Amino acid sequence: MQPASPPEDILILGAGPAGMACAMELCRAGRGMTMVEKAPQVGGLAKTLQFEEPDGTYRTDIGPHRFYSKNPYLYRFIEDLLGEQWRKVPRHTRFYVRGKFYDYPIRLANVLRQIGIVSAGRMARDFLWERMRSLVHRDPPRTFEEYAVREFGRSLASFNMLQYTEKIWGIPCSQISVDWAVQRIGGLSVFATIRKALFSRSQGPKTLVDSFYYPSRGSGLIYEAIRDRIQAAGSRLLLRTEPIRILRDGLRVTEVTVRTAEGEHAFRPSSVASSIPITRAIELFDPPPPSAVREAAAGLRFRAQVYLFLTVNKPSVTRDNWIYFPDTSIPFGRVSEMKNFSAEMCPAGKTSLFVEFFCFEGDEVWQASKEDLFDRTMTVLERIGLLFRSGVTSVHHIRAAHVYPLYDLDYDRRLTVILEWLDGLENFYAIGRPGRFRYTNQDHSLEMGILAAQSILTGTRQNLDAGAENEYFEKGMLPTAVARQ
Ligand SMILES: Cc1cc2nc3c(=O)[nH]c(=O)nc-3n(C[C@H](O)[C@H](O)[C@H](O)COP(=O)(O)OP(=O)(O)OC[C@H]3O[C@@H](n4cnc5c(N)ncnc54)[C@H](O)[C@@H]3O)c2cc1C
Repeated sequence: MQPASPPEDILILGAGPAGMACAMELCRAGRGMTMVEKAPQVGGLAKTLQFEEPDGTYRTDIGPHRFYSKNPYLYRFIEDLLGEQWRKVPRHTRFYVRGKFYDYPIRLANVLRQIGIVSAGRMARDFLWERMRSLVHRDPPRTFEEYAVREFGRSLASFNMLQYTEKIWGIPCSQISVDWAVQRIGGLSVFATIRKALFSRSQGPKTLVDSFYYPSRGSGLIYEAIRDRIQAAGSRLLLRTEPIRILRDGLRVTEVTVRTAEGEHAFRPSSVASSIPITRAIELFDPPPPSAVREAAAGLRFRAQVYLFLTVNKPSVTRDNWIYFPDTSIPFGRVSEMKNFSAEMCPAGKTSLFVEFFCFEGDEVWQASKEDLFDRTMTVLERIGLLFRSGVTSVHHIRAAHVYPLYDLDYDRRLTVILEWLDGLENFYAIGRPGRFRYTNQDHSLEMGILAAQSILTGTRQNLDAGAENEYFEKGMLPTAVARQ
C-alpha cells in the first residue's frame, strides 16, 4: 500500500452535487482537496450521460432534472459556473392515468372534461367528507396514505397519488412515513392546486412551479464545470475509486484507505465529507461504530431504478418535459423527452426518451434484460400511440442502486441513532441524499455540501440538514444572497 500525498488533506467521498458543492466552496476559499468517486464521471444522480451514435451525440440526465430553489445563493453559485449556459425552460408535464392524459399542474377544464361529472362529484364529496372529519380527528397523520386521503379525499388521492407513490417505493402507502409527503408535496393541497389552476400567476408550492432553470447540455454540466475549476486549481479527482476503510481513533477519523485501479492508497485527512450511502459508510469504520448504530443502519433500505434510454429517429415525440404513469398496470413510472429541456441534448431533427422503472436492487426488474424491458416499454407506448418500435434507433440500459432513501415507518428512529453518532465525529461530515439518507433534490444536496465546506473552513460544525424551508440560509448564514428573477 502506498501512502498518498494529497494537494491538501481534505478528503471528499462521492462526487455528486453534495460532494461537488463542498469542493467548489472549499476551492473558492483557496483550499485544495482530494475527491474519491466510484463512478467514471462526476455528477452522481444529477450527471448527464453522453452517447455517440451514427447520427450524432445524444445526451440524457438520469430522469428529468429541473432546478428550483428558494435559496438565491444557489442561483448565484450555479450562474457563476455556467453563465449563459443556464437557461429558463417552460415546464410542460402531464400524467397518464386510466387511459387518458391530464395536464400537470392541472387545468380544471381539462380535468373535468376528462374524468366526467360523476367522478368529479365523487372527488368533491370525498374531499368535503375529509374536511368535516378533520374537525373531529385532529391527530396528525402518520403515514403517506393518511396524509393524502385527509388532504385530498380518497377518490382524488387514489386517482393520481397513491398508486404512483406505491410504484416509486414498492411498499403500500400505509407503510410509508408521512415525512415523505411533507418533504415532497408539502404545501400542495386541493386549494393550492385549484388556486393555481384558476390564477396561472399564482406561485403555489414548488411542486406546481411552471418554469425552471436548466443547463444547455444537461444537469451534469454544473458538476463538470466544478470539476474543471477544482482541477485547474490543483485539486485531485480520483474516479473509479472507492473507500475501503475509515480508520478512527475515538471520535476522530485518522486515516481513509481507498482502492483505485492501480492499488490501495491511504490518506490521513484532517476532514472528510462523505456522500457515499450512509449504510456503506457505517460498514467502513474501523473500529466499527457501537452495535446500536450498526443495527440501525442494517435496517435502512434504498429504492433502486433501472432506466432505458431510447434514441428516436424523428424530431419530436411529445411537447412534455416528462409524463407520469401512475397506473400500476404500466411497468414504468415516468418518461422524459430531454430535447424539451434543451435542443442541445440530441442531434438536429432527432429526439430521445428516457424511461424510468422503479425496483429494489436484485429484484426481477433489476435483473430483467434490456430487450425484455424494451419490449415492456414499447408494448405500452405503442398502445398509447406515443412511439412505435420502428422509430427507435438504439436502446441503452442503465442501473442505479441507491436512488431513493426509503422512508418506511421505522426509518426516522434508525436514522436518528445513526446521525447522532456520525454527527458526533469531530472531522467527518455526512452530506447529501445517500450520505444523510435524505430525500433531497439538487438544491438541498448543494446546500449540504456548502454547509460542510463552511464547517471545515470555520472549524464549527453547522446544521447539515438543509431542509425544504431552509431558514438557515434565509437568515443569512451564507453571504451575498442576491435574488434572481
Ligand atoms: C429520476 C430522478 C429525477 C430527479 N429529478 C430531479 C429534479 O428534477 N430536480 C432536482 O433538483 N433533483 C432531481 N433529482 C435528485 C438529484 O439527482 C439528487 O438530489 C442529487 O443528485 C443528490 O446529490 P448527492 O450528491 O446528495 O447524491 P448523489 O447524486 O447520489 O451522489 C453521490 C455520489 O457518491 C458516489 N458513490 C456512491 N458510493 C460510493 C462509494 N462507495 N465510493 C465512492 N463514491 C461513491 C456516487 O457514484 C455519486 O456520484 C432526481 C433524481 C432522480 C434519480
